[in-house]
Amino acid sequence: DQGYYGVFWAFPILFGAYFVLPRRQATLIGAAFTLAMTAIAALKVGWPPAIRAFASMGLTLFMISWALGIIAELQRALREQAITDPLTGAFNRRHLQAELARLSQPGEGVAHTHSLLAIDIDHFKRGNDRFGHAEGDQVLRRLVTAILVRKRASDLLFRTGGEEFMLLLHRTSPVQARVIAEDLRERLESQSWLPNGDSITISIGVNTWRPGQGVGEWLLGADRALLEAKREGRNRVTVAGEFD
Ligand code: GH3
Ligand code: MG
Ligand code: MG
Repeated sequence: DQGYYGVFWAFPILFGAYFVLPRRQATLIGAAFTLAMTAIAALKVGWPPAIRAFASMGLTLFMISWALGIIAELQRALREQAITDPLTGAFNRRHLQAELARLSQPGEGVAHTHSLLAIDIDHFKRGNDRFGHAEGDQVLRRLVTAILVRKRASDLLFRTGGEEFMLLLHRTSPVQARVIAEDLRERLESQSWLPNGDSITISIGVNTWRPGQGVGEWLLGADRALLEAKREGRNRVTVAGEFD
């Protein structure tokens, strides 16, 4: 009805769709709208302006979609960076808090028990002092790889401090968690980790979440069990509730 000028209104509509609809839907509707506008323009004002309307609307749609694709990819990369430890690639402490909070919500845990393994390398400082920080970093990276290939897909590994890690075992009882922890401890002990062929050992504290328990309490229980393992002489697994 507005002749050429009517086509100008098509552009804010192309943009606006992305504000109110998911990206895919907005693109599909934008494409359908472009075709409809082209047909109407062809009928009302002839083919030459209709072809221009088609080209300019199509180009606009393509550029919006392309720019939003880049933003989505950047957001994904940022989200991943925000929860990942840069040295080892394990998840970081921030993500641990979020995961534990999610699992200990009412409803989620009622049907399942989840276990937490607090892992700390024994006498890590000695190796660092003897072979250098870079070698220590290498040990941390290899340790993470060794745990990642061993764990189940649903288990999550977090680096919570320098040479401290938390392994979250979904749907795992204290008995199962102890078996897994012992197996991990033995596997690491039997490998060569340092340039002189020496092994490293780890101490592990196990704590299983109980319904009604808060995140802080859950973490603290695992830390206490780890401390007990250290106190008892290191290179061992201690389960919360099984010591005084
Ligand atoms: P313990 O058996 O009591 O755990 O003794 P430890 O030596 O492992 O523990 P301590 O807390 O005394 O020392 C931890 C060491 O970890 C100190 C620090 O040099 C080292 N460390 C912390 N972060 C890093 C890191 O990112 N890279 C390297 N190479 N070393 C680190
Ligand atoms: Mg240590
Ligand atoms: Mg430590």
